[in-house]
Amino acid sequence: MMREIIWAPWRSGFIKGKPEPGCVFCRLQRETDKRKILVIETGKHNFIVMNKFPYTSGHLLVIPKRHLGTLEKLTTPEANEHFKLVRLAASALKRALKTDGINTGMNLGRTAGAGVLHHIHTHLVPRWQGDSNFMPVIGETRMMSLDLEPMYDALCAEFLRLKKKK
Ligand SMILES: [Zn+2]
Repeated sequence: MMREIIWAPWRSGFIKGKPEPGCVFCRLQRETDKRKILVIETGKHNFIVMNKFPYTSGHLLVIPKRHLGTLEKLTTPEANEHFKLVRLAASALKRALKTDGINTGMNLGRTAGAGVLHHIHTHLVPRWQGDSNFMPVIGETRMMSLDLEPMYDALCAEFLRLKKKK
């Protein structure tokens, strides 16, 4: 039973958040205090944010700036940068949080479990050996309001390092 729940990392925590008018991902972009909303990186076309309702700690989302409901609507430059940021995010998770593995993917459409339906996004869910033994996922209200800020700082530092390296 537990295992089944664990293997559905795509249920966005946002559905658990308070219902708010408008699109949550568009609203994030209007916030100027990036730290407050845990935005780690902003590119030309996409940005990376920590999920405040994470499936595991360090759950990241890569989000196109434009409000697009389908993958096909992404332009090539948007798509290229999107995947570039997914790669960067994966590297940062590996180094900053010492992950053993990462689940990454998109839920396109309600049937696929999209939490934010009309604004596509890619999840990166870090995994550690044995994490399924410890995750109290019953009722989906789990875990991890746990120290998002230290993790945020570690990830931001790692992003800086990765970008300098180039
Ligand atoms: Zn939107």
